[in-house]
Amino acid sequence: MFKTLRAQLTAWYLAFFLGSFVIFSVLLYATLGRALERRLDQSLASQANTATALMQEELDEMHGDAPRAANDVLSEMRPRDSVVAILEGNATLAASGPLLDRADPPAAGSWALPNWGKHGARGAANRFTWSNRPFVVVAIGPLDSVVDDLHDLRAALGLALVPLLALSIIGGYFLTRRGLAPLGAMAEQSRRITGENLSARLAIGNAAEELALFATSFNALLSRLDQSFETMRRFVQDASHEIRTPLSVIRGEADVALSRDRTAAEYRESLAVIHEEARRLSRLVEDLLNLARADAGRVQLRMEDLYLNELVAECCRSVEPMATARNLKLQCSAPADIPLRGDEELLRRMVLNLLDNAIRYTPSGGKISAAVESHNGEARIRVADTGVGIPAEAAAHVFERFYRVDPARSRNGSGNGSFGLGLSIVKWIAESHSGAVELASQPGAGSTFTVRFQK
Ligand code: ADP
Repeated sequence: MFKTLRAQLTAWYLAFFLGSFVIFSVLLYATLGRALERRLDQSLASQANTATALMQEELDEMHGDAPRAANDVLSEMRPRDSVVAILEGNATLAASGPLLDRADPPAAGSWALPNWGKHGARGAANRFTWSNRPFVVVAIGPLDSVVDDLHDLRAALGLALVPLLALSIIGGYFLTRRGLAPLGAMAEQSRRITGENLSARLAIGNAAEELALFATSFNALLSRLDQSFETMRRFVQDASHEIRTPLSVIRGEADVALSRDRTAAEYRESLAVIHEEARRLSRLVEDLLNLARADAGRVQLRMEDLYLNELVAECCRSVEPMATARNLKLQCSAPADIPLRGDEELLRRMVLNLLDNAIRYTPSGGKISAAVESHNGEARIRVADTGVGIPAEAAAHVFERFYRVDPARSRNGSGNGSFGLGLSIVKWIAESHSGAVELASQPGAGSTFTVRFQK
């Protein structure tokens, strides 16, 4: 029924107000009723006392003429809202009070209370003896006035309820409206935030603590989104940039080959260039796809039990011809069986990337080594070279995507797909196996990459 928070809060406000008002009214009613009865009792007791004292004086003065004494006392007292009666034994000597006109005159001696007035009555009685004669003084007050007062109170409370209810509805509505206004403003601001202006933030101003907390969390979420959008944008930009180079080489080569008739050898040469560039391109696209899948958490590792030493030895064998062609000495040391649970294809890719880099960044005559060892429940793969090394300021970045220490040199290197993605893939594969990769390098002396796995 109450769909808006404002209506719900107002309804709650109203319910609480109504509840408090009812409790307050009941307490007030009960307390006032008791107080009025107590006051009536006190007044009756005091009238009975006065009549008793006066009666004793009069009896003394009148030498025991009780009926005259009683009449004198009552005409002197003249009770206005009660009945005072003086009895000797069971016989009424005198009675006075306005109610006597309305009520049936009491039977001699029978001053029973309940029949007095519409709502019953309360009374006080004093007994005393004078010269061994028993006297009773009775003061009776009807409860009508108390009931009338309570009735007035009920009416006043009922009358006050209507404007108070109206006030509480209006007040509740305005208070919640005021309290929720910053939320509306934030909703309006957030509606204006799109992929284009993710750097915008919700204004917190002097919003209440809860709303400020909400806005701060929302802003933090925006920051994270902004960051990943920025990363994605950069990724797409860098990827497009990288794809453009081999594509323009392919187009250029094709344009040149097609510009005039050529010999079969020339065509073959052009096709070889195009083939190489197309190969580079497929490798780049495959790398990008892998990284994108990894980002989306969609790569399913095919875990199996394998021997790390065998895997590294196989990788060494497959890069051996490339190392020999560049006059590099390749040493592989994988003495003992080192079992590990992992995705064989990805792990092979990781080791090949490291070996490929070592070969590409080590000048002719250098040395490359790949070692596998097990230490303190940890399996390690270490790929070291005596190549150009990596400057300290670049070491922190080499695992970033598309980062190259020297873009010109990398690109012109072996032509073996130097896109600055190799090490970021190494890092991703190591981490997806709960491992870590470290780099130690000295420019001019060589680099050592160590991958550690907890077994
Ligand atoms: P690339 O495809 O350019 O080699 P990588 O991510 O594999 O991309 O490496 C990033 C950069 O780190 C390279 O451009 C290169 O400058 C540097 N690098 C990587 N491995 C080595 C190494 N063994 N020796 C020297 N520099 C290296």
